[in-house]
Amino acid sequence: MTVSPAGAVKHDDPGLARCEAAARRLLLSHAYKGRKRFCPRCRGGKVYALADGRLRCAACRYTFHELTGRFVNVGGLSCRDWLRLTRLFAAEATASHMAEELGLAYNTVYRAVTVIRFAIVASAPDAAQILFGETGRAMGYDDGRIAMSRGTDAEGQIPVFGIIERPDWTFVDLVPDMRVEHVVHFNLNFSLKVARLGKVVYTDRYQHYDALMFCGGDDSRRYADILDRTPFLDSRTGGFWRFAQSRLRRYNGVSARRFPLYLKELEFRYNHRKDDILPILLAYLCNLVPKREQSDLF
Ligand SMILES: [Zn+2]
Repeated sequence: MTVSPAGAVKHDDPGLARCEAAARRLLLSHAYKGRKRFCPRCRGGKVYALADGRLRCAACRYTFHELTGRFVNVGGLSCRDWLRLTRLFAAEATASHMAEELGLAYNTVYRAVTVIRFAIVASAPDAAQILFGETGRAMGYDDGRIAMSRGTDAEGQIPVFGIIERPDWTFVDLVPDMRVEHVVHFNLNFSLKVARLGKVVYTDRYQHYDALMFCGGDDSRRYADILDRTPFLDSRTGGFWRFAQSRLRRYNGVSARRFPLYLKELEFRYNHRKDDILPILLAYLCNLVPKREQSDLF
C-alpha cells in the first residue's frame, strides 16, 4: 500500500490496484459478475482448466484465457495498466498526458483509448447497427476485430447522426440512409440551417431530431453555406451540445472515420455526467467484443 504525501489512502479506488493480481481479480469480477467461467466462443458453461492455467470448452474444444475475447484483451496492456489508464480516461486526460503519467508509448495509449471507445459503442443500445454496418467497417471494426491504423480519411460514406436532446439525457442516433449529400441538398434548396465547429457540421432541427451532425473531415468548409443563422442547438443555453462543444474543440485531430466513436463517447459521458463512470467503463471493457453471429446473445 502506498501513502501519498498528504497521507490520503484511497482503498476503494479501482484505478489504484496495488498489484497485477489484484487488478486482474477486479477485471475478472467485472467479466464474470460472480458467474461460472464460460466459453467466449459458444457460451458453453462446461469448461475445464488445463495444467497451464488456460481453460478449455467441453462443447467446442476452444482453448482460452479468462479474459480472451474481451475488450480488455485487446491492446496488450497489463490489467494494472488498464485500470490506471481507464481512470485517467474517465477524468478526461489527454492521450499524451496518459502516456507520460503511465510511462507508456503514445501509440499504446492511443490504441487502448480507441478500445475503450469501441467498448462504449458496444454497450450502446444501437451498437449492432453501428458496429456491424458500413459505419463500423469504416471505423475499423471487422466483426470483433479492431483495426488500429490511424487513417484520417473516411472510407465510404460519411455517417450522419441525429441528435435528440431531452432535459436529462441525449440520444445520438445513426440515421440510416441519410447522406451528407442530402444535408447539402436540404441546406441549398430548403434553407436548412447549417453551422460548423471545426470539422464537425451540424444543422437545425430536422424531423424529430434536434440536429443532424457529421464530421466532414478536411472538406467540411464546403458544406456550410449558410453561416449567419443559428441552428437550434446553438440557441440552447445548456444541454448536450454545450457539453459536447467544449470537448469537441479539444479533439481537434478527430478524423471523419473515427468521429462516431467520439460522438458516442460524448453521449455516454453526458448521460452519465452525474455518475462515477470508472466502474461503468471497467464493466464495458470486460464485456466480450461482439461478433455478428453472437449479437443476439447481447
Ligand atoms: Zn465453446
